[in-house]
Amino acid sequence: MDEFDLIRRYFARDAHSPDTVVGVGDDGAILQPSPGTQQVQVIDTLVEGVHFPANVDAGDIGYRVVAVNLSDIAAMGARPRWMTLALTLWDKDESWVEDFAAGLFDAAAQHNVVLVGGDTTQGDGVVITVHVTGEVDEGTAILRSGAKPGDTVFVSGSVGDAAAGLELIREGVSDDVLVQRFLRPMPRIALGQALSARAHAAIDVSDGLIADLAKMLIASGAGAEIEIGKIPMSDALLARFDRDSATRFALTGGDDYELCFAAPADAVAGIDGITAIGTVTEGSGVICRRDGDVVDVDDSGYRHFT
Ligand code: ADP
Ligand code: MG
Repeated sequence: MDEFDLIRRYFARDAHSPDTVVGVGDDGAILQPSPGTQQVQVIDTLVEGVHFPANVDAGDIGYRVVAVNLSDIAAMGARPRWMTLALTLWDKDESWVEDFAAGLFDAAAQHNVVLVGGDTTQGDGVVITVHVTGEVDEGTAILRSGAKPGDTVFVSGSVGDAAAGLELIREGVSDDVLVQRFLRPMPRIALGQALSARAHAAIDVSDGLIADLAKMLIASGAGAEIEIGKIPMSDALLARFDRDSATRFALTGGDDYELCFAAPADAVAGIDGITAIGTVTEGSGVICRRDGDVVDVDDSGYRHFT
């Protein structure tokens, strides 16, 4: 089937609204920004064999490529609005595209983001890029650079599940809550917006808690001390792996798409689903402690599947 039919059948959905003046189908999309807002633009590419194993279901890939972008939108405290999709296909048939589109629109519908355009090509491998535009009220975006000594370091939800899930996928396990957390991450959009007037700095956890916290601190010109015993880990993770392995996933495994942020503790009192794990300090770097003793953590978050 040709590219035109593929787009018409699977990606062109009626998206017209006062804000989406022209969506899929013309040479370009026309979008009406909300008055008093600034745009937040994010983009992420998934390469088969690098960012996901080749045997992952198309629906999960479609879901995931939207979710990982929405996580960046969440980390900025923004509202997602529109997205475009660049799809390079290689060995995939039409049913793959159908399943991929179902997962993609599933994630989009959950977070009110509208697909307004894209590009479809054939290449030597499968490469999927999604670009999302979000909005914030002028001047209210959360940056990585605002953490101050004395702030409390928080993380949302629990960490380590997705990396553990990826390990299970490699072992051939498919139906497990840990695997689901890798395949269908939940971007923390509502939390990001709740933090926008309260947190000093935020980042989403894509490479690993320590690696991403370190990036936020470098941007802020500060350091932090973390208490490993306070890091939130799920019952599912602790049931499946011993405490050392679970802790390693939680500290250095990526793909959780939780938010890590720095805020004065009283500014975020009353927000559910967040855990204080440490304190921002003067200086630089992340010091991890367990029961007072300093622990060495390999903060390399860079991983390959091939
Ligand atoms: P052009 O040649 O002008 O770039 P295309 O033929 O590539 O246009 O695309 C036709 C229309 O379909 C455009 O509106 C484009 O944004 C949209 N489109 C192409 N591929 C996709 C896709 N994978 N998802 C959503 N929209 C797409
Ligand atoms: Mg054109």
